[in-house]
Amino acid sequence: MPIPTTEKIWMDGELVPWDEARIHVLTHSLHYGSGVFEGIRAYETRKGAAIFRLTDHIDRLFRSAKIFTIEIPYTSGQIVEACKETVRANDVRSCYVRPIVYLGYGEMGLNPLLAPVNVAIAVWPWGAYLGEEGLTHGVRMKISSWRRHDPNIIPPAAKGTGQYINSQLAKVEAIKAGYDEAIMLNPQGLVAEATGENIFIVRDGSLITPPLSAGALIGVTRDSVMAIARDLGVDVREGDLHRTDLYTADEVFVCGTAAEITPVREIDDRVVGEPGPLTKKIQEVFFAAVKGEVEQYSEWLEHV
Ligand code: PMP
Repeated sequence: MPIPTTEKIWMDGELVPWDEARIHVLTHSLHYGSGVFEGIRAYETRKGAAIFRLTDHIDRLFRSAKIFTIEIPYTSGQIVEACKETVRANDVRSCYVRPIVYLGYGEMGLNPLLAPVNVAIAVWPWGAYLGEEGLTHGVRMKISSWRRHDPNIIPPAAKGTGQYINSQLAKVEAIKAGYDEAIMLNPQGLVAEATGENIFIVRDGSLITPPLSAGALIGVTRDSVMAIARDLGVDVREGDLHRTDLYTADEVFVCGTAAEITPVREIDDRVVGEPGPLTKKIQEVFFAAVKGEVEQYSEWLEHV
């Protein structure tokens, strides 16, 4: 489905009309994948649009840039403000927010240090990433034959544009085989995450997710899920997971800004089943929190 367009895109400090937000074909990042980006969501609340954990996302953007020695020519406060300005300028209440820092036009070759650094922020309405049906009844997943990056090859701690070629290999393999999404193992064969989501299982009432050292991105939604579960009195742990732990789990779900909290009903043709009670409870609290309906989590909302 084509992206639903909005009015304005923020480019290097200016709001430009959507159709004029263009870059040169010799943009460094287009050739070498040398950008960093974020995926954030704004939700409609009683007090107007609010961006969910915006500052935490922008902090991760700056950490990703640091890993790749990219000097962002703005402060994090300026980028936070620019995201809010872009949401306001487009008069959208609930939307996806995509800030990207990329190396621009002017230098070629693999030394990125000489290239100009550009920043853009676009927003658009984006529905359930893995489908409405997936949100309510769960998705079917496949363990990919493609492994997640080793931290000493490409750091999973960063959200770099080029890294997503690995996710796309896994995604295409899963889709062509008739599944909705892929789960990726790390080079040691332990569960890392999905192509754009972190993963959780429920076993004997405990919630378990792979540690970041298994090659998972430091997900903001992952952190929110862990906080919500702890506040519900659930035992929450990081732990190494084998693929068979997924097959035999009581419940499985994936989470991320785009996918929100999506239950998994089948993995490699082993049935996990319809969304279980803990998955449903966490979904319920999460969706209430993002809409500003849970006082306890109001600090997660940054009003525009
Ligand atoms: N893992 C990967 C590889 C991702 O791209 C994302 C989405 N940014 C996530 C996990 C989930 O992170 P978050 O909850 O911060 O969106």
